[in-house]
Amino acid sequence: SDTILEVKHLKKYFNTPKGTLHAVDDVSFTLERGKTLGIVGESGCGKSTTGRAILRLIEPTAGEVIFNGEDITKKNKEQMRLLRREMQLIFQDPYASLDPRKTVSEIIGEPLKLQKLIPDAKKRAERVHELMEVVGLADRLINTYPHELDGGRRQRIGIARALAMEPKLIICDEPVSALDVSIQAQILNLMQDLQEQMGLTYIFITHDLSVVNHFANDIAVMYLGQLIEKAPSVTLFDNPVHPYTKALLSAIPVPSLRKKRQRVMLKGEISSPINPKPGCRFAVRCPYATDRCRTEEPKLVEIEKDHFVACHLTEK
Ligand code: SF4
Ligand code: MG
Repeated sequence: SDTILEVKHLKKYFNTPKGTLHAVDDVSFTLERGKTLGIVGESGCGKSTTGRAILRLIEPTAGEVIFNGEDITKKNKEQMRLLRREMQLIFQDPYASLDPRKTVSEIIGEPLKLQKLIPDAKKRAERVHELMEVVGLADRLINTYPHELDGGRRQRIGIARALAMEPKLIICDEPVSALDVSIQAQILNLMQDLQEQMGLTYIFITHDLSVVNHFANDIAVMYLGQLIEKAPSVTLFDNPVHPYTKALLSAIPVPSLRKKRQRVMLKGEISSPINPKPGCRFAVRCPYATDRCRTEEPKLVEIEKDHFVACHLTEK
């Protein structure tokens, strides 16, 4: 196997006036080159923080991030600057991350200039032209500004800007959530084509399981800072094991994906990630919770090949 990324016991804690917020609490997984891992969960589950901690856009509190065989948490600033070319981030709202005073060509060309990848202006213009073509942006848009374009085109700019660095890994944080459904499909298709052409590896962060269903090879489900189930996409949809995953799938708005599952209504509030209580974090909402669940934290175990679950019910 060809592992591009190994995340080991990743933690990101924040000190708050009320206590320590466990945003990411001991997350581990591996990712094969050229594949897509979907990370799903409700807002506040720590999926975005996980993505940013992997890129060290925020410093992890603990853990290792092994990228191409090297622990990047040990790299200094300059080493990290070079590495960051290979690991790009695409945001949910490209508009917020695109400088409104810059034209499309300036936005896409900027990283090439700043990172001194293509210092020559003429060559850089050619590359920008090429990147626009790759992401399906018409030539005539080259001197337009982000506000003149719709959400789909703005996301294409975001993708082109990421591709300018010739990345190996792209972390996509809700890249289509702000878009209309028809545009979502176009962007997802584009991302899939680019993956095939360039051998890209994706981490695809989303609250929407139906978005990653066809797209992700594997899906990891997060709950309150922890990874509670991970499996190949097909397995997760056909045979979800963790009670939380089952509840998520039963609530999916797409009938063909929901299958004939009985709707599981989750009672109770999501617990606080600040000074979390011992035991299973899902216990307050779980219909199967026992005394053991309230005292002992379930570990993530491989219940069958490539299928990991953190729940006491699955242990013998
Ligand atoms: Fe429910 Fe217990 Fe499993 Fe947690 S460990 S999901 S509370 S059965
Ligand atoms: Mg988020």
